[in-house]
Amino acid sequence: MAEGAQDVPVIYLHEIKRQYRQGEATLTILDGAKLALWPGQSVALVAPSGSGKSTLLHIAGLLETPDDGEVYVGGTATSQMSDIDRTQIRRTDIGFVYQSHRLLPEFSALENVMLPQMIRGLKRSETVKRSTEILSYLGLSDRIKHRPAELSGGEQQRVAIARAVANAPRALLADEPTGNLDPQTADHVFNALMQLVKATRVAMLIATHNMDLAARMDRRVSLANGQVVELD
Ligand code: ADP
Ligand code: MG
Repeated sequence: MAEGAQDVPVIYLHEIKRQYRQGEATLTILDGAKLALWPGQSVALVAPSGSGKSTLLHIAGLLETPDDGEVYVGGTATSQMSDIDRTQIRRTDIGFVYQSHRLLPEFSALENVMLPQMIRGLKRSETVKRSTEILSYLGLSDRIKHRPAELSGGEQQRVAIARAVANAPRALLADEPTGNLDPQTADHVFNALMQLVKATRVAMLIATHNMDLAARMDRRVSLANGQVVELD
């Protein structure tokens, strides 16, 4: 990504179209969706179930390819890239958090956070140091040896967040990250996400049904007729 490119969105979705075929029928989920994510800005994506939030997040995270349109990461178009290049961008520039933590059950919190860094090729000792720092930052310094099953729901989600930011991504995409949590725990996990935006200037997009949390973010958008619309 270009140095000092403050006026370039971290991720820019341009005229995204996505359809699913179901037998004879074609469902148009996204139909010319446009969205720019900026450094240090938190954006809430608030829309009904089935409206295409996960689809939009997966496309923004290069986990899914649109039928038409372009995903720019740091100003660079990704549609013509090789799978290897796209995978590389996903590893270094984008962090993803799911509704369920999706941590590897056989590994400790520390190892779960180390893995993406080791895949990227960092030295083991360095990944231990970085992972310990990130987990401590998220209030988990006395949980690093625990396996996922030995953690509470909120702790599991904070480990998942630590894993998502382990490679210092430019964008953090979260798909209903507090959807499985009680209100107090949701608040705690949400605070961790907001703290990261402030501290690292990561661009953050969170799909959520929680209007109280959405109200605390910098910007709110929704989906209508397959397009992104600004709320407020
Ligand atoms: P949301 O996250 O807002 O609930 P999704 O993006 O998951 O919405 O799904 C949007 C619509 O696309 C839904 O109607 C869903 O059934 C449909 N859909 C999602 N993924 C697929 C798929 N792989 N095949 C067919 N239809 C899908
Ligand atoms: Mg969804």
